[in-house]
Amino acid sequence: MIKNIILKLFLAVAIFMAAFTGCKKDSGGGGPLLGKDNAAFTIYENNFLEALWKLNPDWATSVGYHKYDSLLYIPNEQNRQKMLDFAKFQIDSLSRFEITTLSEANRIDYKMMQNQMEYAQWQIQQLKAYEWDPSSYNVVGTFAYILNEHYAPLAKRLRNFYQRMAEVPLYYKDAEKQIKNPVAELTSLAIEQNLGGLSVIEKDFADSLKKTDIPKAEQKLMTDRAATAAQAIKGYTDWLKALKNDHPRSFRLGKDLYEDKFKYEIVSASNAQQVYNAALKRKKYIHGEMAKISRQLWPKYFGSKAIPADTLALVSAMIDTLSSKHVKPDDFQSAIVQLIPKLNDFVKTKDLLTLDPSKPLIIRKEPGYMAGVAGASMSGPGPYDKDGNSYYNVGSLASWSPEKAESYLREYNQYIIQILSIHEAVPGHYVQGVYANKAPSIIKSVFGNGAMNEGWAVYAEEMMLDNRYGNNEPEMRLMWYKWHLRSVCNTILDYSVHSGNMTKEQAIKMLTNEAFQQQAEAEGKWKRVSVSSVQLTSYYTGYKEIIDLRDAYKTKMDDKYKLKEFNEKFLSYGSAPVKFIKEAMLAKPPAKK
Ligand code: ZN
Ligand code: ZN
Repeated sequence: MIKNIILKLFLAVAIFMAAFTGCKKDSGGGGPLLGKDNAAFTIYENNFLEALWKLNPDWATSVGYHKYDSLLYIPNEQNRQKMLDFAKFQIDSLSRFEITTLSEANRIDYKMMQNQMEYAQWQIQQLKAYEWDPSSYNVVGTFAYILNEHYAPLAKRLRNFYQRMAEVPLYYKDAEKQIKNPVAELTSLAIEQNLGGLSVIEKDFADSLKKTDIPKAEQKLMTDRAATAAQAIKGYTDWLKALKNDHPRSFRLGKDLYEDKFKYEIVSASNAQQVYNAALKRKKYIHGEMAKISRQLWPKYFGSKAIPADTLALVSAMIDTLSSKHVKPDDFQSAIVQLIPKLNDFVKTKDLLTLDPSKPLIIRKEPGYMAGVAGASMSGPGPYDKDGNSYYNVGSLASWSPEKAESYLREYNQYIIQILSIHEAVPGHYVQGVYANKAPSIIKSVFGNGAMNEGWAVYAEEMMLDNRYGNNEPEMRLMWYKWHLRSVCNTILDYSVHSGNMTKEQAIKMLTNEAFQQQAEAEGKWKRVSVSSVQLTSYYTGYKEIIDLRDAYKTKMDDKYKLKEFNEKFLSYGSAPVKFIKEAMLAKPPAKK
C-alpha cells in the first residue's frame, strides 16, 4: 500500500459524496462551445481541474495544490447539489468533444473524467454514505497533512491551518444533521478516528507554533481557536456515543450497490461476481501448487517424519517452519535497506525494464508521524510535485516487546521482506510511480486507479520470481503463494461479506485455514472489511487484468513479444485503469515483420 493512496482513499470518502462547493457560474446551464482537438481538450482539462480544486479544497491540499489550504468544505445538502450540478455540467462538456479525434493519452483522460463524474452522481444519489457513514466526517487528515508535509514555510502552513479551523464547529454541526440510522461499525470507527486525530489539533499544532517567530499575541488567538475546534470534534463524538440508533443500517453494502461501486471504483473489464469466481479458482490452483512444493521440501526440513495427509496441514507446517528464518529485531531496518540495490541489480541484469537513475529511491527511517505502522511503505511525489522525492519508509522494531517483535518477524521473515520490497519499491510501487510521473497527465495522477497501482505491485512480485529471483528456490515460491493468497482471499472475503452473508466466524476460518494467516491478522482483516468495501478487491483484480492483458499482448505481438517492452509500454500510460490501457495496447496493429 502506498501512503498517498491511504490518504487519498481516506479523503475520497469526503470528496465525491460531497465535495464540489462551487459558485453558480461554474455549474449548470449550457456549456461553452468546445473544440474537437487536443489543444482544446487540454484547455478544458485545466479548467476542469481548477474548478475541481476550488470546489474541493481538502482534496486539492492532499494532491499538493495549495491555493485553497485555508478553506474547509462544509458537508450539507446545498453543497451536494452544487456537486451534482458540477458533475452534470462536466459530463455534458465531455460529450461535446469528439473522442476519436483525441490522442490516445487524452482519450484515456476523457474516459477517466467521465467515469469519475458518473461515480460522483452515483455516490450522492444512490450510495448516500453521507447518511450512514459517520466516519466520513473527519477534518483531521488534511490538518495533519498541512503540519507534516514541508511544501511551504512552517509559519505560512500554520496560518492556513488556523484559518481552516474557523469552520470546524460548523462542519460538525452540519455533519450531525446529515446522519440517519448509521452503520454501528462505522459509528465506532468515527469515534475512534476523530478522537485519535485530536492530538493533531490539541498538541501538534501548539508544538509547531513554538518553532516559529509568529508573535505571541497571534499565537494565543491560534491556540484558542484550536481549543474550540478540538471541542467541536469531541462534541461530535459525544453526540455519536449518545445517538439512539434502534435500526442501524447493516455494514454489508448489498449485491447491487456493491456491483455498482466496483464498476466505478475498479473500472474493470469484468464485474465483481466474475472476479470473485476467478479468485475462487485461483485459490484452488494456489493450494495445489503449495501442496506440491511442500511435499517436495518435506524431507529437507522434516526428514523421515510422516507427511500430513491433509494438504492444508502439510502446507501450514511447512510455512511455519520457514517462518523461523528471519532477522533479529535490531537488524530489521538494515536488512530492508540492503535489499534495494540487490533488487535494482536484478532488474537490470534480467533486463525487465529501464530504471531511471535520476529519480532514485530515498530510503529513510519511518518519520515520527507514521510511527506505529511497522514494515515498509512508499511515499511518492504528488501530481503537482512530480520532481519531488520518492521515499521508502522503513519502520524500526526497537521499542517493541520481544514477543511482539518475534511474531512480526515470523510474518515478515527473510522471504517476505524481499517480496514486500519488490511490491513497495523495485519494480513495484516506486518504479510504477516514476513511470507515471513521466506521463504528463494530472488527471491520471489525481484519478489514479487503485487496482492498476496494486495490480502492478502484485504482478511485479510474480514477474521477479518467474525470472528466477531468489535463485528460483521453492521456499521463496511457497512463501510468495502465501503472500499472494492474501490478495486472492481479500477479494473472496470482500465479495462474500458485502454481496453475501459471510459471518465473522466463516471469514476467520477461511483466512486462518486457507490463507495461513495468524489469528490477529485475520481479526484485523475482518475489522477492515466491516468498515470498507471494494478496495480490498483491487489487488487481485488489478493483477488478474494485467496478466490477462499480457497474454493477449503476447498473442498479438507473436514472435516480436518482449517482456521488457510490454512492461515499459504498460507503465507509460500512467495510473489509468487496466481496462483502458488494454484498449490502447491492443488497438494498434502489430509492428511489421
Ligand atoms: Zn501495494
Ligand atoms: Zn524467531
